[in-house]
Amino acid sequence: MDDSGSPRLNVIGHPLVQHKLTLLRDKDTHSGDFRRLCREITLLAAYEALSDLPLVHTTVETPLVRTDARRLAGPAPAIVGILRAGLVMVDAILELLPQSPVGHLGMYRDPATHEPVDYYAKFPDSMELREVLVVDPMLATGGSSVHAIDAVKASGATNIRLLSIVGCPEGVAAVHGAHPDVVITVAGMDERLNDHAYILPGLGDAGDRIYGTR
Ligand code: URA
Repeated sequence: MDDSGSPRLNVIGHPLVQHKLTLLRDKDTHSGDFRRLCREITLLAAYEALSDLPLVHTTVETPLVRTDARRLAGPAPAIVGILRAGLVMVDAILELLPQSPVGHLGMYRDPATHEPVDYYAKFPDSMELREVLVVDPMLATGGSSVHAIDAVKASGATNIRLLSIVGCPEGVAAVHGAHPDVVITVAGMDERLNDHAYILPGLGDAGDRIYGTR
């Protein structure tokens, strides 16, 4: 399924994001710059991913007058990061939403079944009342994102968005096949997966590049 142009898929076209993605892709970009670029791209892409957060009317007293104003509705949006590469995105979004509680989900792929298996899951309270932003830097096969969204829904959440730095058609199709209600935002939409489930052209293993491991 090609979702480009769909309201369920945002691809960030901003020149700053394109420029920073190019630097991120460069195999010679070292971990320090890689982390900084992930953070900057996440901030810019989250601005778009969160552009329809519901607001309520309120009033505020400035040094001069009381005036009508707006603030985010409900309890603070929850951020859910998939370990380990998602952590860098969580930290970036916390700068925009410092009141937000954070959920973490750790999973590995079972070598025999290739199915994701949880080894850690902890979510904030009142998930059913919160807007939830799941962050996963690489939307590759979609397996980890689908599994994370399954778990987030099992915690009671119903308003869920997914933010990735790089996506591909296979990952978008997998997420929308399992969770058609979830709006996906990607900073860049790549061509396809290779035989090892890496995104092409991609940027390699995001976790290894963020943390300087191999
Ligand atoms: N995970 C990564 O880190 N990179 C890919 O290309 C695919 C999955």
